[in-house]
Amino acid sequence: MKVLYIEKENMVYLKDVPKPEPKADEVLIKVAACGFCGSDVHILKGGHVQKYPVIPGHEFSGVIEKTGKDVIHFKEGDRVAADPNIFCENCDACKSNHQIHCKDLSVLGSLRDGAFAEYVTVPEKCVFHIGDIDFVQASMQNLWAVSLTVIINMRFQLVPPF
Ligand SMILES: [Zn+2]
Ligand SMILES: [Zn+2]
Repeated sequence: MKVLYIEKENMVYLKDVPKPEPKADEVLIKVAACGFCGSDVHILKGGHVQKYPVIPGHEFSGVIEKTGKDVIHFKEGDRVAADPNIFCENCDACKSNHQIHCKDLSVLGSLRDGAFAEYVTVPEKCVFHIGDIDFVQASMQNLWAVSLTVIINMRFQLVPPF
């Protein structure tokens, strides 16, 4: 499959790589839309928490192509998006509901391969159904969630429908 491939700092190009296989608890998603984020620029320039080489892309949507043997909530053909943050759920931070400080955090598109690719594998626990929402709009769910969290934390008064 074709991917955008960051080999190292400031070195990015298109590359052919093998299509990934989902692990038992993962789904394989055929990517329909993937947003380009400011973080992607930082990942390319080396100013972010990232590993190299890496396939960037963490704001995306698509269709389930294949499921691992332990996946129960999704099937082939489902329209989905995903939270790019993958928490361990076992460390002190995760157990006290501060997952963003997870000691073993992995992130699609920076610490493991992301969605500037024809296909991406994602743990089932990070995936959610998008119904009939447009793929491009659905790919921006992470952006909306971050913005909404900031607004809520600033204690602005929100008006319906929030
Ligand atoms: Zn982003
Ligand atoms: Zn954790």
